[in-house]
Amino acid sequence: MPNTVETNETKIMNTYKRFPLTLVRGKGSNVWDDEGKKYLDYSSGIATCNLGHVPSMVKEKINEQFESLWHCSNLYHIPNQEKLASLLTKNSLFDQVFFCNSGAEANEAAIKIAKKYAKDQGNPERVEIVTFKQSFHGRTGITMAATGQEKIHQGFTPLTPGFRYLPYNDVATLKEVNNGKTTAVLLELIQGEGGVFPATKNWIKELEKVCKENDILLMLDEVQTGMGRTGTLFAHEQYGIEPDVITLAKGLGSGFPIGAMLAKASVAQSFQPGTHGSTFGGNPMSTSAGVATVEFLTQNDFLAEVQEKSAWLRVELEKLEQSHQVIEEVRGLGLLIGIQLCEEAGTWINRLRNQGILVLAAGANVLRVLPPLTTTKDELEYFVEVFQGLLSETEGMTS
Ligand SMILES: *Cc1c(COP(=O)(O)O)cnc(C)c1O
Repeated sequence: MPNTVETNETKIMNTYKRFPLTLVRGKGSNVWDDEGKKYLDYSSGIATCNLGHVPSMVKEKINEQFESLWHCSNLYHIPNQEKLASLLTKNSLFDQVFFCNSGAEANEAAIKIAKKYAKDQGNPERVEIVTFKQSFHGRTGITMAATGQEKIHQGFTPLTPGFRYLPYNDVATLKEVNNGKTTAVLLELIQGEGGVFPATKNWIKELEKVCKENDILLMLDEVQTGMGRTGTLFAHEQYGIEPDVITLAKGLGSGFPIGAMLAKASVAQSFQPGTHGSTFGGNPMSTSAGVATVEFLTQNDFLAEVQEKSAWLRVELEKLEQSHQVIEEVRGLGLLIGIQLCEEAGTWINRLRNQGILVLAAGANVLRVLPPLTTTKDELEYFVEVFQGLLSETEGMTS
């Protein structure tokens, strides 16, 4: 075999195609590169910096904790962890929380508890979990298997068994959810990485019905849709459903690594000492960030303002869709927005970046726009103006 490996300066494994940009500072909706150029960051670290960069309320809490204790293991009581669990359960329909460090780990915890729950209920034959095509649940061994995308599985067989992938938003195949071996379904209410596809209300309602009738756990991966991203603290509030389990990560620590799995008491009791754990999960630092983040998000009127801003942006983007051929569709909920283009999303990411605006892709032709929830109306107007300018420019004289 010829050695085709290119010599490369970096000692970092090549798992990411990186933009030619080095960010060194951030404040609010802005970031600055190593040459001092300022950008409007409408990628928010992939829906993670929901309160903008270095939000002062979170910074204060972290600084306070930083002075007193960094780590002490889960063999002792951790006040910030207790406080964050109280805040999360007070603001949701769940009873208990397990803390970890990432979205994948939160989903691992959900998958584990679903299997254990079946056994505790006297249903040891229930070992399968239904997930959906085009989903994304993480990169670890088990969450990769849970993810319904072949390109994520490529090269990593044999996969962890026990997952069945059904088509998303398809009522006709819901009868396949219960095959006598299913303990849970796990899904995103908006498929984020898969192209920003929101679940339809009707399908979700029908799916919930199948789950409740057959004692199958309804588990939602709210890693991207949670923490105010869609205009409510959790996306499921807008669907009028009652999940048994949800998972959180991205926005939960405003940029500090933290994940969580929330469950109703009937399910939560399946985790007992020795069944699951994490060295860093829920440590004093990350949970201090989590406490400040949830306190900020649940302040009076904050989420109502997010809804107002996102409704305004949606109308403006739909106007652009009407007047510019390159936009096929605008999708999403709140400030989790997908703009389906009939061109490569990458071209548009570069064009916007050259104008000082950072956005992402979700699949080949979908621009994913994720403003911080704290973004101002002026910034939103600026974004629309620049995007519109580029759309008109590239259409030349034909528009
Ligand atoms: C980002 C993401 C994950 C994985 O989170 P990590 O913190 O990268 O492990 C899982 N599910 C969804 C829906 C995500 O958006």
